[in-house]
Amino acid sequence: MAKTPPEERVFHGTPVSRGIAFGPVHVAARGFSAPDVYEITLDQIPLEKARLTAAFDETRRQLTELKDRIDAVADGDEGLVFEAHGMVLDDPGLQRKVEKAIDERKQNAEFCFYAVMQTFLEAMRRIVDPYLRERTIDIEDVSQRVLKNFQADMDAVVPDHQHLLVAYDITPSDTVSIDRSKLLGFVTEGGSVNSHTAILARALGIPAIVGLGNAVLETTTLAPAILDGYTGKFIVYPSGETTAYYQSLDAKKKEARQALEQLRDQESTTVDGHHITLSANIEFIHELGLVHENRAEGVGLFRTEFFLLEAGKAPSEKEQTEVYSELAKRTSPHISIIRTLDSGGDKLSAEPLTEPEPNPFLGWRGIRVSLDRPDFFKEQLRSILRASAHGKVGMMFPFISGVSEIRACQSLVRECMAALKEAGTPFDPDIQVGAMIEIPSAVLVADEIAKEVDFFSIGTNDLIQYTVAVDRINNRVAKLYRSSHPSVVRMIKMTTDAAKRAGIWTGVCGELAADLSMTPLLVGLGVDELSVGPRELAPVRKALLSLDFSECQKLAEKALTLATSAEIYDLSRSSAKSAYSDLIEDWE
Ligand code: PEP
Ligand code: MG
Repeated sequence: MAKTPPEERVFHGTPVSRGIAFGPVHVAARGFSAPDVYEITLDQIPLEKARLTAAFDETRRQLTELKDRIDAVADGDEGLVFEAHGMVLDDPGLQRKVEKAIDERKQNAEFCFYAVMQTFLEAMRRIVDPYLRERTIDIEDVSQRVLKNFQADMDAVVPDHQHLLVAYDITPSDTVSIDRSKLLGFVTEGGSVNSHTAILARALGIPAIVGLGNAVLETTTLAPAILDGYTGKFIVYPSGETTAYYQSLDAKKKEARQALEQLRDQESTTVDGHHITLSANIEFIHELGLVHENRAEGVGLFRTEFFLLEAGKAPSEKEQTEVYSELAKRTSPHISIIRTLDSGGDKLSAEPLTEPEPNPFLGWRGIRVSLDRPDFFKEQLRSILRASAHGKVGMMFPFISGVSEIRACQSLVRECMAALKEAGTPFDPDIQVGAMIEIPSAVLVADEIAKEVDFFSIGTNDLIQYTVAVDRINNRVAKLYRSSHPSVVRMIKMTTDAAKRAGIWTGVCGELAADLSMTPLLVGLGVDELSVGPRELAPVRKALLSLDFSECQKLAEKALTLATSAEIYDLSRSSAKSAYSDLIEDWE
């Protein structure tokens, strides 16, 4: 008898990177198998212990979340199983045992954890009491979860064929290290739109969905699936009808995209002749091909942390100079703005920390790290300065909270300039130096900061999270992360006003710059530049070409009188729809 095919199943999540992908599923390793083992040196012991604590903490967080989720839908005590799992981790003896194993074995934390758990499980399996023996399953389950939370190399679990990856979570470094030719798209149970993982997925053009319920537990490797990165649907075992629908939608979207590309040689100027510079955000130099194809007017944000930290070993001053010089040459005559190291938060730390930070987004991040490590910082500053002899380069500093930080940066820039001059090394003495405005305190003293710099670049991803106190990577509070919050809109206006008073320009380089519903408002608030991912250049150009600046100004004035995010969003969205409804339809 012929087997009936499994029924189509649809999961819903938050779309974070557009595109449609078809392929077999690969669920990131689930088994309780031995992790890789490697030797560590004495000075790596604190780091391994910190990794252990972080994996335990993350597991506890997931278990609480699972329990809450189950409690919300079930009235019995089904959620208690996760509480029991959590209790395994809460046993202080367990962590101590693993730490002792790290001290004695001098091996990586996940392997020591694995070894301790194996011994424990062996002992439990020998227990005569069937109830207690049963509990080994719980211990296995929680152990498996902890092992996953060490976020071991995704390489180890990624298969050789093209696939749609389904995982609990993916870190920014997994996203960049995954083999793009094999990865058709990914879905995760955790994550959010403004995490760096999502930003990278968009930069790399990988369709992606986050916050997808129990996808890891409820899908199986090799099941056929369709990932809809527009609406956030993930369809496993799609019917013939669903597949046909998505094939035709995919063709339509690709056609619309090609039509947009026809506009690429047009200046990004509104119908009433107001020019907005349209530049690109990049994380890797190899994205420059796309930047040129889409005719960006330069690079508005080069996030150097991926290149500086992902390789495992910091590039030398010479290597940095080569990369920045190549950027300068290839984007010339336009400017390339190089942002100095912005480590911490959800990105890699600049160096192993002896203890994990309780609040990484409020911790040792951005310019704080650079100012604490002046030798490393000056290497980067000198490299940028040297590159400025090869093309137009600017530099900007992340995570500025006030004037003294910017003065400290400027003093180091002057020191580096003097040293290069002394050595007879050419550089541009008029290089533009800017401050990222992404912390509310910087907005409030923007008048003072403006006296010290040549431009502002508003980092809305962070500005929103710090203004409305919503962690940008926490899906649970994602609905409170509103770019149209009146306080955010006022912050942007305060920044552009302060810049205008000082005669300097303002750009926006956060993800908001590519939000087509908000383009009318941003233009009206007086920003001079929008810097977006290379794949977002074409739609944003089309939006700018369709808008009327004086109308946008009126809209912004009105928006500044409104009290809620929803009202402001609706106002801007309806103006966007009347100026370019086709674009919105094709693009979203
Ligand atoms: C921002 O915060 O908006 C920004 C552009 O920087 P990042 O996303 O790298 O923090
Ligand atoms: Mg930022």
